[in-house]
Amino acid sequence: MVGTGPGSLDYLTPAARSIIETCDVVLGYNTYLELIEPILQGKTVISSAMMQEVERVRKALEIAESGKKVCLVSGGDPGIYAMAGLVFDVAKSLNSSVQIEVVAGIAALNSCAERLGAPLMHDFAVISLSDLLTPWEVIEKRLEAAASADFVMVIYNPRSKKRTWQLQSAVTLIRRFRTGETPVGIVKSATRKDEEIIIATLDTFEPTVVTMQSTVIFGNSKSYIWNNRMVTPRGYLDKYHL
Ligand code: SAH
Repeated sequence: MVGTGPGSLDYLTPAARSIIETCDVVLGYNTYLELIEPILQGKTVISSAMMQEVERVRKALEIAESGKKVCLVSGGDPGIYAMAGLVFDVAKSLNSSVQIEVVAGIAALNSCAERLGAPLMHDFAVISLSDLLTPWEVIEKRLEAAASADFVMVIYNPRSKKRTWQLQSAVTLIRRFRTGETPVGIVKSATRKDEEIIIATLDTFEPTVVTMQSTVIFGNSKSYIWNNRMVTPRGYLDKYHL
């Protein structure tokens, strides 16, 4: 299980790169495979268009059992809303003896925070708005808990062509706890060719600009915007009266 980072090869860790280089077979989503294409030469590549997640994992385990070194790639980090958990679920259910290793990747939240400034300097909660595997009532409860406890909120899977109302609904909920000046950072396709960075506030934020390749970060009550960067203070200035 290898994380390929947010997109650019510069953000693929040397550890992840060398593991991919020593593999015989690489499986993954087409988008991620395209992004790492330059290092896939000479390997058997099995793209996801051919099968769904569970089937892909079964296939990976099957090939590994035949003695090959198999790499299942995920964008970002493989253990964050990705495939690592599913690999263990399936391996456990099959009582598989395949040796499984998880190799971290730079997650979207790292690269998006970098692009925005320093929004994650204090406690933050990461919430996925995808209700494909999680009921909306559960997501709503977590949004409310995080918003009411003044966490910075990192929103993954914010909006897709089919899931269009969830983000607006999250904003309406967050507004019950935060003022209209609260900073909102939107990063689309971080580190990729079509990257876009938008810094807004809860008052000016326009959910329709958000795509599935975006991460949205809502600041806490202390977050601020300075020189078009989004910052959440850790508290040094108050403590040392700077
Ligand atoms: N395993 C990935 C997350 C996969 S879930 C990770 O660790 O980052 C897919 C969601 O991740 C997208 O809907 C988006 O919210 C976020 N994401 C992935 N790559 C991104 C990128 N390059 N820029 C902004 N957001 C990204």
